[in-house]
Amino acid sequence: MEMIANYINGELKPPHSSDYLDDVNPATAEIFAKIPLSDEEDLQDAITSAEKAFKEWSGLSAKERADYLMKIAELIQENLEELAMAESMDTGKPIQLAKTVDIPRAASNMEFFAHAITQFSSESHAGKDSINYSLRKPLGVVACISPWNLPLYLFTWKIAPALASGNCVIAKPSEITPYTAYLFSKICVEAGLPKGVLNILHGTGPEIGNAIVQNKKIKAVSFTGGTATGRKIAEISAPMFRKVSLELGGKNPALVFADCDLDKTVEGLVRASFTNQGEICLCASRIYIEDSIYEDFKARFIDKVKALKVGDPLIQSNNMGALVSSQHLEKVKNYIALAKEEGGQLLCGDEAFELEGNNKQGYFLRPHVFENLPIQCRTNQEEIFGPVVSLSRFEGEEEALVLANESEYGLASTIWTTDLSRAHRIGAQIETGIVWVNCWMNRDLRTPFGGMKNSGLGREGGLEALRFFTEPKNICIQF
Ligand code: NAD
Repeated sequence: MEMIANYINGELKPPHSSDYLDDVNPATAEIFAKIPLSDEEDLQDAITSAEKAFKEWSGLSAKERADYLMKIAELIQENLEELAMAESMDTGKPIQLAKTVDIPRAASNMEFFAHAITQFSSESHAGKDSINYSLRKPLGVVACISPWNLPLYLFTWKIAPALASGNCVIAKPSEITPYTAYLFSKICVEAGLPKGVLNILHGTGPEIGNAIVQNKKIKAVSFTGGTATGRKIAEISAPMFRKVSLELGGKNPALVFADCDLDKTVEGLVRASFTNQGEICLCASRIYIEDSIYEDFKARFIDKVKALKVGDPLIQSNNMGALVSSQHLEKVKNYIALAKEEGGQLLCGDEAFELEGNNKQGYFLRPHVFENLPIQCRTNQEEIFGPVVSLSRFEGEEEALVLANESEYGLASTIWTTDLSRAHRIGAQIETGIVWVNCWMNRDLRTPFGGMKNSGLGREGGLEALRFFTEPKNICIQF
């Protein structure tokens, strides 16, 4: 059985405590690795090594740092098959998704910020008798904490800009899916990343995660995860006047107008609802359909959802794999029961669904679609983060907008219409940080990424991430 190791001061190390947690394959319920439970001593070692590495790393030219990131990107590509297999085994996601989305995107993250840092220029303002220019300095030792749903994809999305801009990093992957972060640490060793520049600590959120956030030597925290955890991190960080970037939960609305291209919309929304078993913060979960096409949309949508193949994630033709853990499966099933209590009518889904053979004990669930749920009910307001969506009707643009905005979340939305003016009008008024028109999860890494309301604080992506990980200093010179 593989014993996952921490990555501290350039070396793979067991935890001081010698305590481990099980790493479970959700498609088979088998334990395939052991996860170190890191403690304060491991954190101290990581911080000492990061502080020591900071002077030299921040003193390198942008091009020199970019070269390390490019080397890491290259090694991710070279090891794509192994990484995709590990990601699928750890999360239950279809291997095809890991091969085409998760792992290539992890390589792109490293490449993108390697290029971006070489183009990151400071501002200058010339006046009548003076000139101002801004320096952008790295912050020091920063923390990157990421969730389980897109493990390597989101881990590298944070680490790449932090390192590119000259910081040293203490990173913590989710204890539910730590395996590709461990493989990533081996890649960093192979790439010759200088000692201490990146340190990866494994363990639980309430223990090592909390210890990282409590530590005053950490100059910034970039966090992606649940809203409740984000709130705790904000509370701890506020009295330290520390920078935080919080990418949190969502309850994403989709607005389907009668003038949409129906085939494209149905196909797009099946993908938006059930990719990665619905375990993407950007997945659509509240689908509002204009009354005149409601029945037509519903019939076509349900047909396509019923055709989705749920099964062994290692079989390439399966569309959906297993949910990430037995606890998460229970949580989603509880929401399905709640939806029924709240008056929802189940249009498709089967909770008793089970597979045979190796996958008999796995945490599989067929996609569930409800209708007739009251807008304000818990199933329409709380994040389920699984393969469950709710269909509702609206009449006209005004009502569509009210329904979409009736949420404490504000991460992502989709608008399906062929009326360009309408798309602009709604795009400007809808309360989400990301708006997709006639598409979903079409990502350009240069764009600001993040949520409004309880979906977060700050933006990642492109120059926003480089600004977050640097401190501006203005220098004014009088002629
Ligand atoms: P989570 O908040 O439970 O955990 C996220 C990470 O934080 C994990 O590494 C965990 O160990 C750590 N953590 C937990 N408690 C902590 C604490 N007290 N102090 C420090 N670290 C702590 O979230 P999760 O269940 O892993 O992920 C699912 C959530 O993530 C969903 O709400 C989803 O919407 C959200 N998410 C958001 C985005 C986005 O970009 N907005 C992307 C992916 C996932």
